Amino acid sequence: MSNLNKVMGNFIDNQCVVSASSRQANVFNPATGEVSLSVSLSTIEETQAAIASAQTAFESWSQITPLNRARVLFKFKALVEAHSHELAELIASEHGKVYSDAMGELTRGLEVVEFACGIPHLQKGEHSLNVGRGVDSYSLMQPLGVCAGISPFNFPAMVPMWMFPVSIACGNTFVMKPSEKDPSTIMRLAELLKEAGLPEGVFNVVNGDKTSVDVLLTDERIQAVSFVGSTPIAEYIYATASAHGKRVQALGGAKNHMLVMPDADPNQVVNSLMGAAYGSAGERCMAISVAVCVGDEVADNLIAKLQTEISTMTVGPGLYKQYDIENEPHMGPLVSKEHAQKVRDYITSGVEQGAALVVDGRDFVRKNHEQGYFVGPTLFDHVKVGMRIYDEEIFGPVLCVVRVDSYEEGLALINQHEYGNGTAIFTRDGDTARQFTEKVQVGMVGVNVPIPVPMAFHSFGGWKRSLFGPLHMHGPDGVRFYTRMKTITARWPTGLRAGPEFSMPTMK
Ligand code: NAD
Repeated sequence: MSNLNKVMGNFIDNQCVVSASSRQANVFNPATGEVSLSVSLSTIEETQAAIASAQTAFESWSQITPLNRARVLFKFKALVEAHSHELAELIASEHGKVYSDAMGELTRGLEVVEFACGIPHLQKGEHSLNVGRGVDSYSLMQPLGVCAGISPFNFPAMVPMWMFPVSIACGNTFVMKPSEKDPSTIMRLAELLKEAGLPEGVFNVVNGDKTSVDVLLTDERIQAVSFVGSTPIAEYIYATASAHGKRVQALGGAKNHMLVMPDADPNQVVNSLMGAAYGSAGERCMAISVAVCVGDEVADNLIAKLQTEISTMTVGPGLYKQYDIENEPHMGPLVSKEHAQKVRDYITSGVEQGAALVVDGRDFVRKNHEQGYFVGPTLFDHVKVGMRIYDEEIFGPVLCVVRVDSYEEGLALINQHEYGNGTAIFTRDGDTARQFTEKVQVGMVGVNVPIPVPMAFHSFGGWKRSLFGPLHMHGPDGVRFYTRMKTITARWPTGLRAGPEFSMPTMK
């Protein structure tokens, strides 16, 4: 493993390198509360060294044919599949999510690698014959240079894989700054990229915090920055990197609503909500955290069914009896002690602000894991605009039910929220669903699909304060983001075939 005597350094020039930084952060196992390793918080100079490595590598990597770049990614995909158990275990042990969910995250990341393997086709550009008489026009999609990625804790494999496979497939080189809470997975992926044949310097990992991020946002050698994380940081990233002349895509936080119409299938709604609200302990940017029920009857039935389902839920360590997926808990712990306390504080604020607490997860304790960062599934009814549990992103296993009188009121409620990442409508009426998809001010919309995460060959991104920058991640937008278009218009003089002319030249 790459965690050098339990103090993880960086991955530069295809080598794990020890960091000279005097600053380190502890990485915890959220299920036990124990420190599993510490990670170096890199210095400015170390971050600059990673950029320099990527800058040097760009010259040759950008000249390698797209087909040969794709071949490295094909090998990388096979290696990730061969090491999937090990990678899922790393994810579960540092993030806390259950093993099967970690495998799901890897699969979604691999789909982007599969997409990037099609780069010879994706980067072809356009061609027009005879835009004028004897004049042709065509475009080149050229790589940018050194690109940077900054990722959050909640998808330590998938979110970096939204970024670097497309970027390096396009001929760029990359510096990744993962979350300091769960850095091991990306270090292992870096080793697998090397094993797949990626030349040194094409992909580098710098572990660290704001110190490293600020270098990536301001260093003139960095051409583009991809960020995923909370909204205040996304705003900072967007403003700072843009001011330094870089391309930026900065994805922020979320508050995702599910609109439940009276004609929706109640069992389908409950099953969908349970997974979408409590899967991964609610630490997903596409988690449904608000169910908007049209009519009291819909809300009363939903609350009763949810209560029953929640009572059968199991909460425990993500790695349960080694790969025993059949019997693993439904939900793991939260990522850190501080975050678990923040979620409990949100629940307390909901009670204080007058919401009805139907199921309270604050006192949940898992036997034999008393020091783990567990919060049980929590359910609120009669939640209203203006309450912190409605207005703000909680990022925990807390589902809020809001009651409205009509479809129009529900749509207006969703549209007034500052976040616009994902949403879903559950209904049997095609006309209502169709109107909803057209009118709702949200970037990713599900119709009877609770978590409408686009596949790798589409692009991922929200609206409003959930995304800053014009282009979404992966898919066609990803290729546009990581390439710069050049359009060439060419005319070749005619008449050369006829050989030399000896009479006085005149325009023909
Ligand atoms: P975060 O914003 O705390 O951290 C994200 C990254 O930014 C980390 O690498 C971190 O080291 C760095 N960072 C933190 N503070 C910084 C600062 N002051 N200056 C510069 N860099 C800084 O987010 P998190 O807690 O790791 O992740 C959870 C958040 O990410 C949630 O808000 C969630 O909604 C969001 N998220 C959004 C999406 C999406 O697609 N929109 C996907 C996943 C997660």
